[in-house]
Amino acid sequence: MERVVIIGSGCAGWTAALYTARANLKPLVLTGTQPGGLLTTTTIVENYPGFPEGINGYELMVRLQKQAERFGARVEFGTVEAVDLSRQPLQLTVDGAAVEAETIIIASGASHRHLGLESETKLETRGVTYCATCDGALPIFRDKPLVVVGGGDSACEEALYLTRFGSTVYLVHRRDQLRASKIMAERALGHAKIKPVWDCVLTEILDVSQNRVTGVRLKNVKTQAETLLDCAGVFVAIGHIPNTQVFKGQIDMDAHGYITPRRGSLTNVPGVFAAGDCADSVYRQAVTAAGMGCAAAIDAERHLAARNE
Ligand code: NAP
Repeated sequence: MERVVIIGSGCAGWTAALYTARANLKPLVLTGTQPGGLLTTTTIVENYPGFPEGINGYELMVRLQKQAERFGARVEFGTVEAVDLSRQPLQLTVDGAAVEAETIIIASGASHRHLGLESETKLETRGVTYCATCDGALPIFRDKPLVVVGGGDSACEEALYLTRFGSTVYLVHRRDQLRASKIMAERALGHAKIKPVWDCVLTEILDVSQNRVTGVRLKNVKTQAETLLDCAGVFVAIGHIPNTQVFKGQIDMDAHGYITPRRGSLTNVPGVFAAGDCADSVYRQAVTAAGMGCAAAIDAERHLAARNE
């Protein structure tokens, strides 16, 4: 039986692993389908303390993993398919195999939100993507007009990154004001290649019949007017959905699926703790996720110590 199982390998998961490893609990980290989490798909992280020049997101995660492993954390490439948290030890099914744990730290992060268009699904990997860092350099996007959807920091970051490849980057936002932080908004709107398209939503991505992206159909939400915009790629950056479906009905969460801890990282189930983006709809920063991972590790360690007394 495992003393601590950490579900997720982003900033929260690795920090929880580092702390529980240093407490000699030999944590097992289950990576999920995206080892390193969403941060591995970003370019430079400029707001993680201690890196004055910024650090590549992927490199940051590799360093966190190495640091946790140095103290005895174990890593398994695996996805949690089911849980039974109604009895002790806590039961997990990981890629078909049963795993028992005294404590679990849920650090399962969040995934990209989709627009919900049929054409979006059909053209995914055919010019529709959720990650400029992963796909921006593909030949199909070179020197072509590109569309980024969204008005937050992610959309600005994606748009700025894509200026290296696209001829023009249209930043399509459903309002006339960005949600992004001031510094990111100023950078994006000040870039010669980025053109904002305000008050518009995508109603269709063209052209499913050609099996590639040739443009988008836009609707102005104020005037209801429809227009067509030619582009070779659509980069969707409209936020995230917490990866908590597997815990539904067992762990308390809000209407959007974010885990709602009771106190600190403690969930409604004794021995189950939550950290990072899966339990944070407010701050959602790499450094806050790391801090939550630390708190969850300390809470798990105290829980185990109290049980053994
Ligand atoms: P976000 O801040 O939630 O922004 C999502 C954006 O997408 C909003 O502008 C929203 O519009 C729009 N949107 C949501 N659903 C939509 C839909 N169905 N159709 C069209 N537009 C839709 O998400 P995020 O940009 O991914 O950022 C998440 C967190 O990570 C934030 O806390 C952010 O600060 C952080 N982050 C930081 C950095 C950085 O500092 N460099 C980089 C990336 C992310 P409305 O504005 O109208 O709601």
